[in-house]
Formats: sequence, structure tokens, C-alpha cells
Amino acid sequence: MSADPNCIFCRIVAGQIPSRKVHEDEHMLAFHDINPWAPVHILLIPKLHIVSMSDVQLEHAGLIGHMMAQSPRLMRELGVTNGFRHVINTGEDGRQEVMHLHIHLMGGPRPWSKG
Ligand code: 5GP
Ligand code: ZN
Repeated sequence: MSADPNCIFCRIVAGQIPSRKVHEDEHMLAFHDINPWAPVHILLIPKLHIVSMSDVQLEHAGLIGHMMAQSPRLMRELGVTNGFRHVINTGEDGRQEVMHLHIHLMGGPRPWSKG
């Protein structure tokens, strides 16, 4: 399934739910997390509805690499100069709440509320 009408992040991709976008291209979207843990906290998501890292296959390697490779530029553009952190929660034990693959990307001066 390329999009799930009940998925909140698919609805953000479709523009049905507003978000503070920082990057969009044909493969992905990056937007500010609604409940940030750090001074800068964005989410990188594929436009394709992939539920979690458990569903990632070798055919997605280019897509995942593409999302990761956007990170340094996005952090620079958001003024992050002293390092950043990627977090991917997967499944129930991984404490994943939104079932559409996303990479948390956080930076900015410590302390952070989480992470
Ligand atoms: P998870 O626990 O699944 O890794 O993280 C889901 C993240 O999505 C949380 O950090 C939460 O704040 C964020 N989030 C959930 N719903 C929305 C939303 O509607 N808009 C935005 N921008 N972020 C959301
Ligand atoms: Zn989705």
C-alpha cells in the first residue's frame, strides 16, 4: 500500500493535516515534531507508507539512504552546529507510536527534555 488513509503521517504527506515542513521532495518529507524533545526536533518520513523498520527491505535501501543523507544539510539550515541525534523507534517494544516509518532528528543546545 503506498498510502493509508487512516495513517496520520500519510495524511500529513497528502496535506490533509498541517505540518511545519522543512523539506519535501518526491521521496520524503521532513517537518517539525509537534511535541519536541530538543530545541530542534524534526521527523524525516518516506512518502511511501512503510509501517516501521521491521518492514524495510533491501529495495528500500536507496530511500533510507536518501532520508539519512538529507540530515546534515537540514540540521545546518536549522542552525544546529554542535551535533545531532537520530532515533528510530520500531514496534511495541521499540515504543513506536505512529505506525509510519519516521526518523527523529534532534539537535540544539542541551539540556533536552528527552533523548
Ligand atoms: P514515535 O514514538 O512513534 O517514534 O514518535 C512519534 C512522534 O510523532 C512523536 O514525537 C510525536 O510528537 C509526533 N507526532 C505525532 N502526531 C503528530 C502530528 O500530527 N504532527 C507532528 N508534527 N508530529 C506528530
Ligand atoms: Zn502512512
